Amino acid sequence: MNQAKLKRSDLWIENINGKPNAGQASYPVFNPVNGQELARIPSDGYDQTIDAIAIARQAFPLWKKQLAKTRSQLLKKWHDLIVTNAEDLAIIITTEQGKPIAESRGEVMYAASFIEWFAEEAKRAYGDVIPSHKPGAKIIVTKEPVGIVGAITPWNFPMAMITRKLAPALAAGCVVVLKPSEETPLSAHALIALAREAGIPEGVLQCVSGNPVQIGAALMDSKNVRKISFTGSTRTGKLLAEQAAKTIKKLSLELGGNAPFIVFEDADIDAAVEGAMASKFRNSGQTCVCVNRFFIHNAIYDEFSTKLAKAVEGLKQGDGFTEGVNQGPLINATAMEKVSSHVEQAVSLGAKVMVGGSKSELGALFYKPTVLSGATLEMAMAHEETFGPVAGLYRFDSDDEVIRAANDTDFGLAAYFYSSNLARVWKVADALEVGMVGINEGVISTEIAPFGGVKESGTGREGSKYGLTDYMETKYMLMGGLSVD
Ligand code: ADP
Repeated sequence: MNQAKLKRSDLWIENINGKPNAGQASYPVFNPVNGQELARIPSDGYDQTIDAIAIARQAFPLWKKQLAKTRSQLLKKWHDLIVTNAEDLAIIITTEQGKPIAESRGEVMYAASFIEWFAEEAKRAYGDVIPSHKPGAKIIVTKEPVGIVGAITPWNFPMAMITRKLAPALAAGCVVVLKPSEETPLSAHALIALAREAGIPEGVLQCVSGNPVQIGAALMDSKNVRKISFTGSTRTGKLLAEQAAKTIKKLSLELGGNAPFIVFEDADIDAAVEGAMASKFRNSGQTCVCVNRFFIHNAIYDEFSTKLAKAVEGLKQGDGFTEGVNQGPLINATAMEKVSSHVEQAVSLGAKVMVGGSKSELGALFYKPTVLSGATLEMAMAHEETFGPVAGLYRFDSDDEVIRAANDTDFGLAAYFYSSNLARVWKVADALEVGMVGINEGVISTEIAPFGGVKESGTGREGSKYGLTDYMETKYMLMGGLSVD
């Protein structure tokens, strides 16, 4: 770790380490690069979560009543503090999550962008006035905050996935109990420290971290928690959906993906390789919109695969603080197990290793960036998200064949394709069963566009104007007895 640079990031980590916790259990946080223990975090469970919900309940009516402009100004302050402290925040991300520091810097600004966007949107939570259906009456539609929100976030973007939920929730007038991933709680605590500094009241935004099952159960059992916003695995998302049925909570679920990346024969191959690298190997393949299946037209298969393999050979793995490193470790042993087993099974079924194909000597959690040619649809990696730096290449001949194959999955988050034929672009974009499509683009995430999936990839949208309405209820008022003269 770069000790010279650690100032506030050190302090935040120490504060959490030293937080008095009266005999409360604690859990360790590790640096995935070398397995070093970074901190011990007090472990919250069911009771602490119920307490947090009670505090949130008191805070909600006051926060709801605040002028939208006041909420907006507080969010803006939080945004500015994140930007001012960007380097320390980036250091925390790389230290506990492992991604290269340049990616962490990008994530901090991406995380801040949601707060800025929703600080602006807070003032635009417009309702409607509808022409009445009878004389002497008016119809008014207002938007109201849904209430207490439970936000459950993953480790792959330990800051951005938090602000993408918290910013619209707070902007809408909701209060939040946040449960970050137990792999990356330091990022969450640092963001909360800055929220406090910005003046966001304690009851409005609380963080409980520790036992996921207990915290989840408390959030789900409570009638006062009116919405759960979750980003994580489809397995956990399904469990939460079942639990939410007990009290009919609103749900936003950003779950797993199985993104296809299609390269047609009329594509700009170099642009496609560039897009493939960005989309597949960002965060070492650990994003839910990462490509999971490369469908390459037979006519350009050899050219594309050779160029992709060359680009992948040029990647540099290592400690994210080392100059030139653009591939960090996987997050944990379970992730390593999944990546290795996908590659082993694919090779046993006939896939050819063009690059990589094995664990790296760099450390227990490093898997070499890999390109496999000759992938086929019976392989596990065609149906399950590998969530690692492995590109499996499939061949196709016709548009209809590839559209069918791309849609042949339970998931529907993102899809990408490269083509220069306008008619084909519209045909394919319309036919793909996903929430987001990158057309001649490999990176699609931005705070100004709606992020979310269809099928088992989830429900709800984050970011953009749609992101705010996910945290609001619609109330219709019919006002009668008015003069008809
Ligand atoms: P991954 O396998 O990628 O870590 P998970 O879905 O397990 O994905 O984790 C995403 C988030 O969901 C994390 O914050 C994790 O702690 C949380 N989580 C996992 N299991 C539960 C559960 N039973 N109830 C509530 N939250 C959970």
